[in-house]
Amino acid sequence: MNNDNVLKKEFSKKDVQRARNIITGDTTFRTTEGVGYSKKYEHHIEGDVWEENGRKWTIKNGVKQNITKMDKFKKMGKTPLFCPECGTLMKKELDKKVFPAYQKCFDCVVDHEAELIRQGKSKDHFGKLRNSHIQNAMNGFEDFMKDRMSESNDNYVTEAGDVENWRGGKSKEELKQELQEGLEFLEELKVK
Ligand SMILES: [Zn+2]
Repeated sequence: MNNDNVLKKEFSKKDVQRARNIITGDTTFRTTEGVGYSKKYEHHIEGDVWEENGRKWTIKNGVKQNITKMDKFKKMGKTPLFCPECGTLMKKELDKKVFPAYQKCFDCVVDHEAELIRQGKSKDHFGKLRNSHIQNAMNGFEDFMKDRMSESNDNYVTEAGDVENWRGGKSKEELKQELQEGLEFLEELKVK
């Protein structure tokens, strides 16, 4: 396998991992694929905020990230202070974990599911829930990949000194292909 193929394989693996992370709620969108050499770059360090092509950027954990995009994802996963169902303060880590999928606090989820099991409706319920969670992941992944397609393919150097770019040196066609494969992978996980 030549070097290009090694990188390609490595990168696709990371995209699948990222898709899995979206499902498990670990939505730190890191891309660390190096391209090995540099044609053109600006040097920025961790925490820098700068504008480029009309968009705001920063380096977080050594990786260049689009701030607008990060804000969007933060908003997506935002948990309100109080549970809409029972009105208690949602301060537990578990509340934050379950809220995006269930729109209620952890205790309410436990009660609701116990009730469904009593009524013998749990199988259907969990299947639907899993599918809606997967669909959310698919939407997030699609947004993320489309954002990547719209970025420039110029290189930059991270604080750690690695040469990287947002697209990983990929053409739009290659990203489209990866998007398609990722969506198919997630679709397969749905309960039929
Ligand atoms: Zn509640």
